[in-house]
Amino acid sequence: KLSRRLEMIMELIPNGSRLADIGSDHAMLPVAAVQTGRAAQAVAGEVNPGPFQAAVKQVAEAGLQGQIAVRRGDGLAVIEAGEVDVITVAGMGGSLIASILDNGQDKLGEVKLLILQPNVGEDILRRWLLEHHWLLTSEKILEEDGKIYEILTAIPEKEDERISSRLLYESQQWPSSSGEGTFTVTTELLLRMGPWLLKGPTSTLTDKWNGELDKLQGILNSLSASKLESAEMKSRQLREEMDQIKEVLACLQ
Ligand code: SAM
Repeated sequence: KLSRRLEMIMELIPNGSRLADIGSDHAMLPVAAVQTGRAAQAVAGEVNPGPFQAAVKQVAEAGLQGQIAVRRGDGLAVIEAGEVDVITVAGMGGSLIASILDNGQDKLGEVKLLILQPNVGEDILRRWLLEHHWLLTSEKILEEDGKIYEILTAIPEKEDERISSRLLYESQQWPSSSGEGTFTVTTELLLRMGPWLLKGPTSTLTDKWNGELDKLQGILNSLSASKLESAEMKSRQLREEMDQIKEVLACLQ
């Protein structure tokens, strides 16, 4: 049975897709996607021998060798240009996912949809998408086994639609929680917290950022023990960062 996280990723795959799941591990996602008809055919890519063998086994046990090709290789090297229309990359850091996309740009020409689930570093991935003309179309957030995950989807941005990505991340004025004046939600903060997540906030989003605030407070506490001048500067930056997040959280509630 799929985890809720993988289930939510699978539900974003349009029926009949040609799918590549990169970093597929046990190939749970492509197997379920083919079984439910979401993928007509799939490639399960794995760079590491253990997970690769696990994927081969899983696909054989499901009797799906005809529909799922398990291939060993780094990132998008396992697919040909034009071979798939949907790519999923899940369960890795945002910077690793961004570097997989970056190294495989020659394979992305005919891809219609990216479904990405970074465990950390979501901002790095959002920035990569923005800078490489992939329009962020949705963001989901879920909690499973005490961990919080985000799932992002992106489609190629056509020349005339380029403006919409810019609009998505354009800094905004929000009413201040004090009831007086406004504060600026910067592009930086939108990249960090997710423009779609902020448009449709959930309690999981609030939980995530309260957790992040706790972590930042921990760093702040350890910095305050240091007498270095650089620590002073870093503390000030951290406090500003925390204030911004708190303002946003206050508006979401
Ligand atoms: N995608 C599955 C999921 O979300 O449950 C598995 C996630 S698992 C934590 C990450 C997998 O990515 C590992 O099996 C690892 O071997 C694989 N991986 C890491 N870097 C990779 C790369 N550059 N190319 C292909 N696979 C990679």
